[in-house]
Amino acid sequence: MTVAEIRQLIRYRFDRFCYTQRLLAGIFDRSLAFTGPKVVQIDIANTCTNTCLACWIRSPLLHGTVCADPIHSQQLPFGVVERVINDLADLQTQCIYLSGGGNVFTHPDLLEIVRLIKKRGMFVVLHANFVNCSQDEARQLVEAGVDDVTASVWAATPETYVATHPDKTAADFEAMVRVLTIIGQIRNQGGVFRMYNVIMNQNYHELEAMVEFARQCGASGVHFAMVDILPGKTDSLLLDEDQLDRLRDMVQRLDEKRDLYRNQYGLDIRDFDLFKQRVFARLADSGGYDRDQLVAERCYTGWMFLRVLGDGNVNSCLKSWRYPLGNIYQTSIRTIWNNGLQQEFRRKALFMTHHEDYFRLIGNNPSDDIGCYRSCDNIANIIEVRELLERLPEWRKSLARCSRPLYRLQHRLVRSNQCKHW
Ligand code: SF4
Repeated sequence: MTVAEIRQLIRYRFDRFCYTQRLLAGIFDRSLAFTGPKVVQIDIANTCTNTCLACWIRSPLLHGTVCADPIHSQQLPFGVVERVINDLADLQTQCIYLSGGGNVFTHPDLLEIVRLIKKRGMFVVLHANFVNCSQDEARQLVEAGVDDVTASVWAATPETYVATHPDKTAADFEAMVRVLTIIGQIRNQGGVFRMYNVIMNQNYHELEAMVEFARQCGASGVHFAMVDILPGKTDSLLLDEDQLDRLRDMVQRLDEKRDLYRNQYGLDIRDFDLFKQRVFARLADSGGYDRDQLVAERCYTGWMFLRVLGDGNVNSCLKSWRYPLGNIYQTSIRTIWNNGLQQEFRRKALFMTHHEDYFRLIGNNPSDDIGCYRSCDNIANIIEVRELLERLPEWRKSLARCSRPLYRLQHRLVRSNQCKHW
């Protein structure tokens, strides 16, 4: 190891230590965050030409009613996205996740946005259906240095692709596969390329074939999620007990092959333990996947994450669209990150069961006692902090507690300085 490499390693460890201490101090504070959000999802476009069967916005099963009432033609202008990205870089956000209400490829400035994120030194993840992506765009995306691409496919064969995407054809599937083969080249530059599959009764029989398909497309990972239904609207996509039993058998078989796929083909079946827990959940046949995981749990997402919607509204988590924190057209994301509404979310999320009225409105079914129990899309953030709290020695936690007044003072000084500029 050279001297420069040793220096770099020490710097990296020190930065990580400081980040963790500030994160913990925020959690012990219960209201403020003393780090920036680690990951921010930006929905740059609500526009999309697909009508995926399980989509909360455009599924034909909704018969025209929509979940979060987005305005379908909305896109965030480049200038607004640029301001948000620059603010997040200053807050030391680590990852920008481009995905959301529509298809990112319908945004005219997608490549510029990817280049800007890279220029500001952040990790960029792009999650899309690859329907409007040409082979040329795919090449430019690889050249722009995107770090992580997740292709939402939901099938291993043209027949199942058409079954889960009613307005698409087998030819669309073949065209998408050609584009994905180009995207796979990001692996040569150290990038990650994943396939994402929402599992429902229309495609569960292809679970194992989806892994094989991902391997053939040159993916480095494959990810499964159970369908998150809109009660009363898309319930017909749920698996019944027989189908769940068959799926559970497939999950067991796949579990035994995970090491083989990883070691022989470099293909990671990502978050498979979490998927397994959801498939085996007591209430899986009614779409209640996360009750056992979240009961009596605290939610730490408020210290890790933000989502910017296509209309500029900002949410604390992927399911809290009924609680806008502010809008980036009017307020800077720096201010929103620690504003009163976000502090309220953090305080309540540490004691979810004490605030049922609040958490009932999270997610897609306000008749649940706590909406999060159905399916929490930020559960990875919660698990990350929970494991950190379990793993760290007591002295680290005590140090974070003692540092809290200092960070609070620093926060007040920074805030008064920001007010002068906004
Ligand atoms: S869905 Fe509920 S548990 Fe999950 S991040 Fe949102 S508030 Fe927290």
